[in-house]
Amino acid sequence: MKGNFISALLLLFAIAICFLSTLKFLSMQKKEAIFPSRGLTSRKMLSSYFPGLKKTWGDTDVYLYEGQEKGGNLLILGGAHANEPAGFITAVLLIENIQVSTGKIIIVPRANNSGFTHSQPQEGNPQRYSLESPWGRRHFRHGSRLTNPVHQWPDPSIYVNPAGQKLSGADSRNLNRCYPGRKTGSLTEKIASGIMELIKKEKIDLALDLHEAAPEYPVINAIVFHENSADLAALALMELQIEGFDFRLEASPTNLRGLSHREWGDHAQIMAILLESANASHGRLKGKTSPALIVEGKDKNYTKAAKLGRLFVPYGEDGIPLKLRVARHLAAVKSILSNLEELYPEKRIEIKNMPSSSELKKVGIGPFLNPPN
Ligand SMILES: [Zn+2]
Repeated sequence: MKGNFISALLLLFAIAICFLSTLKFLSMQKKEAIFPSRGLTSRKMLSSYFPGLKKTWGDTDVYLYEGQEKGGNLLILGGAHANEPAGFITAVLLIENIQVSTGKIIIVPRANNSGFTHSQPQEGNPQRYSLESPWGRRHFRHGSRLTNPVHQWPDPSIYVNPAGQKLSGADSRNLNRCYPGRKTGSLTEKIASGIMELIKKEKIDLALDLHEAAPEYPVINAIVFHENSADLAALALMELQIEGFDFRLEASPTNLRGLSHREWGDHAQIMAILLESANASHGRLKGKTSPALIVEGKDKNYTKAAKLGRLFVPYGEDGIPLKLRVARHLAAVKSILSNLEELYPEKRIEIKNMPSSSELKKVGIGPFLNPPN
């Protein structure tokens, strides 16, 4: 009798643990709110460009800012990899601040929406990180590099992407290997198709894909450019270096297929640039991954690795905080736009209320976030 009672108690305990874990797991599917600036002119879903995404986890919000005067058309993509917060938060800051007077800016903050609904397996990553703002604490999802396997499964042993490149099976769920997409393909290939359709239907001239990578990864603090944007990237780099931001230029390899900076340029003939910042929470040398590591970017293993000359970026005791990584992305966007106007005056894009990189480095991200509305 006593044994039965203990077994029942243990069973109830196990059911309670399963219930609580399920709630926590399902909470990852909830999108955090974004509070757009008054400059927002319309909001759409990616499925309005490619209906094949309707009612799928690949459908995602698209924010449009259109000026009174005609000019260039810019697409900014954040969250192609949902575990690279600087790209996503840069997109959020732009959405919550900018007004466009000339040209058009379209922002997709969660390019791979499915990637935000789960965490990178076997990494012990936190589900969320938070940022203090004058209106209270805002929480943001820390997702995965890949599409959620619940939404796309199984992976093939070898993935041959739409551009014909052979890759590892898991890359079939990596949006930045699936361009130019397949309309009847996997969910990730459909998302890539949706973005290609947006580029064509909105007559995009220039597209920027915002990423992060590990400090030990060679393509870091980089501007990766398609050859049709070489002049633009080189001019932007010079301006950024004068402003004290050290970037390196990387030409998009012609034989590495499926990536945004290659296929956007080849298939839609637009200027295509990818930006990388250095994120310690992303690397192999990190200690425990925590919300603090994501936001403050401090890790003593990386300080040690920098002293041993193993990194491709400077990394001191202060680490590389999210505010600095976002400031770098914003400075690059601003510099690319000012040089776009230099090269192609008819493609001018004029933005008001762009968060200032120097201010951001001083006061942090919070003051640039909008109050809930
Ligand atoms: Zn990335």
